[in-house]
Amino acid sequence: MRPPTDLATLYEPWPPSPLQDVYDERLASLSVELRLKRDDLIHPLVPGNKWRKLTPNLRAAVEHGHTRLLTFGGAYSNHLRAVAAAGAAYGLSTVGLVRGDELADAPRNWSLARAEAQGMELAFLDRTGYRETLRTLDDPATRAALEERWGRCWVLPEGGTNVLAARGAAELPAELPDLGDRDLLCCAVGTGGTLAGIAAGLPDGARALGVAVVRGARYLDDEVTRLHTEGWGRTFANWRIDHDHHGGGYGRVPAGLEAFAAGFEERHGIAVERRYVAKMLWCVFDAAERRAFPPGTRVTAVITGPPDPVPSDG
Ligand SMILES: *Cc1c(COP(=O)(O)O)cnc(C)c1O
Repeated sequence: MRPPTDLATLYEPWPPSPLQDVYDERLASLSVELRLKRDDLIHPLVPGNKWRKLTPNLRAAVEHGHTRLLTFGGAYSNHLRAVAAAGAAYGLSTVGLVRGDELADAPRNWSLARAEAQGMELAFLDRTGYRETLRTLDDPATRAALEERWGRCWVLPEGGTNVLAARGAAELPAELPDLGDRDLLCCAVGTGGTLAGIAAGLPDGARALGVAVVRGARYLDDEVTRLHTEGWGRTFANWRIDHDHHGGGYGRVPAGLEAFAAGFEERHGIAVERRYVAKMLWCVFDAAERRAFPPGTRVTAVITGPPDPVPSDG
């Protein structure tokens, strides 16, 4: 067992995250206002939507007497690093099941190295086994197999999305005063938990737009609806997902997107994370230019995480 929990390290800089007005000529000429909800600044080791999604799960895990978290992610998963850091702060041991057994014997990339440095135990699954484990995660047989190997643990699905996570994200809109008919909240969508929470937390009139960063991910619409039904006992009609700004797929950053992100950084002096945040901002500008937003729209772009600390090596 670890030393006693030190919850303060997770709560220190919190809440709420800063709200930053951005004056952008291109948007201003289209009568669209932009401001950034800087969730990337929430916590240095558990930033962005990961903080919002994980903290309710950590509380629940501790309440249920768990001492170990188990979760899933890819080679550069922000979620894996966040779970490793949050577990360390809460005094919970952590296990990360990583997609790709070829990574087992390769030198650790920066992201997996950081997760390990926080005490996370990594195990590597081949892609089929990884997919099957996630597909059957709620089956008793899968749980039994995981428990047999890893002991009793609080299991978080890939990306950390479950009802508790969505409820954590639902607290974000309450940090924004005077939301109303002209407001649109925008966020990137990986697994849908953040968008589901934001939509559920919005007051009447305000709307949410999620930008899918995965190609052809129509299942995300069903996933958001499932989270609403399970978490709130109802559906919401105030959100939609854009499926046209994934840039070719998860982790892909085509030249046009890179140029857009670099231009935004240069104009506004804000570093832009590429796998999620850049695609969301790209969609906002594109939609504004296509006049998809009524004049007078106020866009609040949720900056769900900071840029990678290390240039991507693959
Ligand atoms: C994980 C992540 C997302 C995706 O959030 P979901 O709740 O899985 O949709 C978005 N942005 C950043 C920066 C992330 O790390």
